[in-house]
Amino acid sequence: MKRNSPKKMIKLEGIAASPGIVIGQVFKLTGDVIKVEERDLQPDEISQEIKNFNKALETTKRQLFDLQSQAKTKIGKEGEQIFDAHQMLLEDPVIIKETIDLIKKLAKNADFVYYQVVQKFQKSLEKVDDEFFLGRVADLKDVKRRLIRNIQGGKKMPLSGLTQKAIVVANDLTPSETVLLDKQKVMAFATDRGGKNSHAAIMARSMEIPSVVGTNDISELASSGDTLIIDGINGKAILNPTPSSLNKYLKKRQEYDEETKQLSKLKNLPSRSLDGKDIELSANLDFPDEVTSAINYGARGVGLFRTEYIYLTREQLPALEEEHREYARVAKKVAPHPLIIRTLDIGGDKNPCYIKFPEEENPVLGWRGIRFCLENPKIFKSQLNAILQASVSGNVKILLPMISCLEEVHQAKNIIDQVKGELLSKKIEFNENIEIGIMIEVPSAAIMAEHLAEEVDFLSIGTNDLIQYTLAADRGNQHVANLSKRLPPSVLRIIKNVVDAGHKKGVWVGMCGEMASDPLATLILLGLDLDELSVSPAALPEIKKIIRSISYTDAQKISEKALQMKSSEQIEIYMRNVFYTRFKKKIV
Ligand code: PEP
Ligand code: MG
Repeated sequence: MKRNSPKKMIKLEGIAASPGIVIGQVFKLTGDVIKVEERDLQPDEISQEIKNFNKALETTKRQLFDLQSQAKTKIGKEGEQIFDAHQMLLEDPVIIKETIDLIKKLAKNADFVYYQVVQKFQKSLEKVDDEFFLGRVADLKDVKRRLIRNIQGGKKMPLSGLTQKAIVVANDLTPSETVLLDKQKVMAFATDRGGKNSHAAIMARSMEIPSVVGTNDISELASSGDTLIIDGINGKAILNPTPSSLNKYLKKRQEYDEETKQLSKLKNLPSRSLDGKDIELSANLDFPDEVTSAINYGARGVGLFRTEYIYLTREQLPALEEEHREYARVAKKVAPHPLIIRTLDIGGDKNPCYIKFPEEENPVLGWRGIRFCLENPKIFKSQLNAILQASVSGNVKILLPMISCLEEVHQAKNIIDQVKGELLSKKIEFNENIEIGIMIEVPSAAIMAEHLAEEVDFLSIGTNDLIQYTLAADRGNQHVANLSKRLPPSVLRIIKNVVDAGHKKGVWVGMCGEMASDPLATLILLGLDLDELSVSPAALPEIKKIIRSISYTDAQKISEKALQMKSSEQIEIYMRNVFYTRFKKKIV
């Protein structure tokens, strides 16, 4: 009998998205496979289930209309016809009637029943040996997947199969999928796609889930159950390691844990340079529960509280009261230090399933952030109301994302004033002098920073988008990851101008983009006179250690020299050398 030979070790190079070393078994997520589970309904649940089914039909119809108009522009009449066929299959009265009848008769969930009905229909089409009918089968499969996802609330990749601790391997993870990862079970993850500053990567760092993204083909090479090492420090994934590789990584994991323990000793020490310059070190939060860990790492406040999670983890808009409670809870925990709450930055790749976004060719250049909020004043006002009410529970500030021009600042402030007026008239307490700041993450805002600064209390530089938009390199696309450098000279110059512009107008300037968490950048940022760095919590101790081991005067000299350099390679080499000479440590 032939014995199974051990699987061959495969070393994959990717992008280090979230640090840590993890050894575990693969759990593979397959995006295109829809999972439908059979559920029994109680008699009083049946009418709601039929309503959900009809709602999902409407959502799917709208999505198909959007796709159709795009297809019409891009392909012409033929493209339009493809979606006519899809609409027809979606609205097929026989399928719809049979589904509704069976939900009632069998008292089963809509996705399960619809799946059975369509499968039957699909099988009969498959029997016909004709190109036209085969084309219809493909259309039907597509429509089926889309409608079932909508019945299931827009979720793309159900993680319900994950019953024990494992390393998740997927082609890609959207922010709403990442949000749903259960930290108790997901030890780490690796994806084919994605960049260091893709939202999934940022969330992974927040959730402290070690991860490697942009490996190109791990989801094809790995199978569920394979042994996998994730080296989230160096961006490596080792599939089916040999015993000697395994030993090497067990040792590395021990060293990493030891280093983390040493850094934790800095927790209560100030973030002050050797010659006494303070730079505020605060934390970025993607979820409220991270606040405890942020404080444990020594954060003095929260420089960026991303609020998208509230919208992405629900099936409908959050109620004002619920939102207020969440903000107030975090504000109390970080008080007297600031809690900077960023207003909703959905759109782009963060799309709650219950909000209809148009299908856009360039979503990150499209209807997102403040653009969406200004056009949806009801949603925006409700969030502002919750933030303002929470302002009495701590030191809350408002941060507006994706500002690209002065008019947006005026409009947003106008809406904030309206909400303040409503609260005043209802005699609801809030901080009337709440500080308002804007993100500088769009090049036009950076160029106009001096004028924008006149309108607000602070500026916070978002380097993730600023790099993306300045270099025209999609932050989630591994094929252009080589352009999204860590220290692009163009962006460093922009940062300098923004800091100077803010200071000229008497406002403080912070940075909440991921560059603030990069040890290679710290000395430059200190030298550029940023007032605050808001970093991912786990990165905080190391950044503090660097700040504490140099004088501001020396950091200024280093940043001046770096800013004269013409390429990111040059700057990186220079900074690595500086780092090694001073700290006898190599930066990955
Ligand atoms: C940024 O763009 O730098 C930023 C902090 O915002 P986000 O990563 O949420 O887009
Ligand atoms: Mg941004």
